[in-house]
Amino acid sequence: MNILIIGAGFAGSVCARELAESGHQILVVDRRDHIAGNAFDIKDEYGILIHQYGPHIFHTNSERIFNYLSKYTEWYKYEHRVRGVVNGKEYPFPINRDTLNQLYDLNLTEEQATEFYEKVREPKDTVKTSEDVVLNSVGRDLYEKFFLNYTKKQWGLDPSELKAGVAARIPTRTNSDDRYFTDTYQAMPLHGYTTMFENLLNHPNISVKLSTEFKDVLNDDQHFDHIVYTGPIDAFYDFKFGHLPYRSLRFEHEHLENTEQYQSVGTINYPNDFDFTRITEFKHLTGQKHSSTSIVREYPTDAGDPYYPIPRDENEKLFKQYQALANNEEKVTFVGRLAEYRYYNMDQVVGAALNAVDKILGQK
Ligand code: FAD
Ligand code: UDP
Repeated sequence: MNILIIGAGFAGSVCARELAESGHQILVVDRRDHIAGNAFDIKDEYGILIHQYGPHIFHTNSERIFNYLSKYTEWYKYEHRVRGVVNGKEYPFPINRDTLNQLYDLNLTEEQATEFYEKVREPKDTVKTSEDVVLNSVGRDLYEKFFLNYTKKQWGLDPSELKAGVAARIPTRTNSDDRYFTDTYQAMPLHGYTTMFENLLNHPNISVKLSTEFKDVLNDDQHFDHIVYTGPIDAFYDFKFGHLPYRSLRFEHEHLENTEQYQSVGTINYPNDFDFTRITEFKHLTGQKHSSTSIVREYPTDAGDPYYPIPRDENEKLFKQYQALANNEEKVTFVGRLAEYRYYNMDQVVGAALNAVDKILGQK
């Protein structure tokens, strides 16, 4: 088959490689001037490897997905750590026993931390919203200190207006584990994401056309037996049911001369101050040694490239309308964070792409 793939991010590139391996001819197009989608990384003008679209930390519990990507990259072992600033002081985040001890000047054991949460939590019969999730696990004071304003800033919505899954990404801990993720596999591509994508796409059956809108390719005379679409699903259908809301970010990159290290950990969250949500210092993530450093601040916004589907019932309803059309397409497969309107992490997108390929090849 001649297959057109729209988007050179995780969804598109994994599909491209797998379909190429099965003997098909693949054309990948992306409107951006680079591969790797939102995982794109590049050395900035000072030689520091930065993530253009914000910090991307790879983590998964899936051996299959880790082994799959390991064919295209070696790894740098990295466990992400985050601290949240409240009233000018940094605390371990997600909230753990040390957060409680430092914040409230206590000396709780693990058992006492469990009792502490029991005392302060506001139990909910049904946990529907992100507000429910947090109040149900840590109660109002911690909710207001760490979650309420961060969420309002990130989404432009109150946590009560967002589905439970958003805040449920963040665990609550009774021990002192201060890692952001506890997945079995946590690592960064040793030579960066972009190099990993170059390896994925390096196959005699794959050609890549950048700075190309997919509709322009369809207008050419070329015939395609199948299309894999990884862009926003509403755009594919010319927004016929209306725009699906996606949240965007403005990234403010900064380089700091003569500063070997800017902050204590990879990411510092600022729930209650500033218009940005967090600052990430890339050298923590990549292990790069350099006498100066580069950081990024993330400013949430409605306008701009779509980065996050917004998990709310009303959006899910609108998505379902588009999905019904998508389900009837025999020659088009929709896969990825924007096409499936799912708050996927990178590993989940790899999994979704591998499943999509099985379907296209008639193996499922
Ligand atoms: P994308 O990477 O968005 O790729 C889609 C591509 O399609 C884009 O390159 C786009 O240009 C192209 N495209 C769209 N429409 C068209 C068109 N009409 N014509 C041509 N090309 C088109 N995940 C993690 O696991 N860990 C993290 O730490 C993490 N951090 C993140 C931080 C931020 C700030 C963001 C925004 C996301 C983060 N993610 C993280 C999620 C991760 O970025 C996504 O899961 C993953 O990149 C999605 O891959 P994708 O291929 O579905 O989409
Ligand atoms: N969150 C919060 N305070 C924080 C960090 C996260 O309230 O300090 C909430 C917020 O709603 C955020 C969600 O938890 O959108 C998920 O956080 P995560 O760090 O997983 O977001 P991502 O890295 O995907 O932007």
